[in-house]
Amino acid sequence: MRLTGGKVKMIVFPSPLIIAALLLGAAILLWLQIFPAARPASIYYGYPLKGTRIMIDPGHGGIDPGAHHNGSFTEKEIVLAVSLELRRLLQQAGAEVTMTRETDEDVSRHIPGDPSSRYQRDMSGRVKLINESGADLFVSLHINYFYDTSIRGAIVFYNNSRPENKLLAEAIQKNINPVVAVNPRPDQYIHQEIKEGDYLILNRATIPGVIVEMGFITNPDERELLRQDRYRQKLAQALLIGITEYIYGRKES
Ligand SMILES: [Zn+2]
Repeated sequence: MRLTGGKVKMIVFPSPLIIAALLLGAAILLWLQIFPAARPASIYYGYPLKGTRIMIDPGHGGIDPGAHHNGSFTEKEIVLAVSLELRRLLQQAGAEVTMTRETDEDVSRHIPGDPSSRYQRDMSGRVKLINESGADLFVSLHINYFYDTSIRGAIVFYNNSRPENKLLAEAIQKNINPVVAVNPRPDQYIHQEIKEGDYLILNRATIPGVIVEMGFITNPDERELLRQDRYRQKLAQALLIGITEYIYGRKES
């Protein structure tokens, strides 16, 4: 056929298979919107953490950005986002959750009238809130930095004064490792080991707890991951499962 001018219009009808796939996709999205509980925590039946009290300490905040990239991408923002997601997941699992901070603020106001520096009051404030929380355990969330930008990965720090600390550190490290070991490169080193840590919060806490360094802001690959909501959710899910495994390990022993 020879076209002698004008436009030829074609109407394409999608195949029934494509229509069925689109309908199925829409149904799944609708299901997740209506039943958010069908998302991560649904791997558990009922409320596995009912009766458990957890304290989350998002590091830094307010005038203290923590580690940062070019001053604009900050540790305080990342750890708060992961902490809020972790709180949501823990509450879905039935836990009672308290936090040292829920917004972009430091914690120094909890130590009024103390002549020490704001930084010291901030750290003492966190210890005070943790020790007065009545919680079964605490997790203090941080982001790491290092001059060697090829270094990445997660390190859970614990104080060896009580065996629970190491058990909690191991449970969290085990679950966070598959998350941080994504897309490894031969020229990078990915931390995946727990370490003893000499930190004020760990040394002065009267309940079991750990510091979780969830990644290195100085590594370009990990930095890009840490910007993503989906990656932050994966970190929070790993923390949830680590905490749950620790709690159940305690109950069985
Ligand atoms: Zn930090």
